[in-house]
Amino acid sequence: APHRTVDVHDLLDATLAMFTAKLKPGIQVVKEYDRDLPAIPVYAAELNQVWTNLVDNALYAIGEEGVLTVRTRRDDDSIVVEIVDTGPGIPAEVRSRIFEPFFTTKPIGDGTGLGLDISYRIVVNKHHGDIRVDSEPGRTTFRVCLPISGPEP
Ligand code: ADP
Ligand code: MG
Repeated sequence: APHRTVDVHDLLDATLAMFTAKLKPGIQVVKEYDRDLPAIPVYAAELNQVWTNLVDNALYAIGEEGVLTVRTRRDDDSIVVEIVDTGPGIPAEVRSRIFEPFFTTKPIGDGTGLGLDISYRIVVNKHHGDIRVDSEPGRTTFRVCLPISGPEP
């Protein structure tokens, strides 16, 4: 099978574990998991790329000091994962372009501009889910919705 049924929290924990070694001391990671979520069919390796991209962006935005929150909940026939950071936010003129391939505001070496393009394609095209951003100074939320029925309805 192209995908397997997983507890999305296991994927999130695996991603967060990869970042713990290089986590700055001023950054706090908060997990707000809804433990009642069902396991769902996903492309696990691809979805881990999404969490990695979103957490990487969030930690970059936070910089030295702040909070990264990873939250899950159920919404009708979807699982919702929110990656929230206390960084500076995304200016309106930048927001409309962040999902474009090679769009980056980071200096050369810090970013390729491909993270959100790839994440969008994995979530929307491969999983028939949705990825959206909500941003204001001091709080940026990336919200990923994944259908409980899995990639093939
Ligand atoms: P990269 O991280 O390589 O720049 P991405 O596709 O992951 O590429 O992100 C594109 C751009 O979106 C970033 O350069 C940044 O300007 C903006 N961005 C993404 N996530 C955040 C965030 N959490 N806070 C502020 N800006 C963000
Ligand atoms: Mg990125």
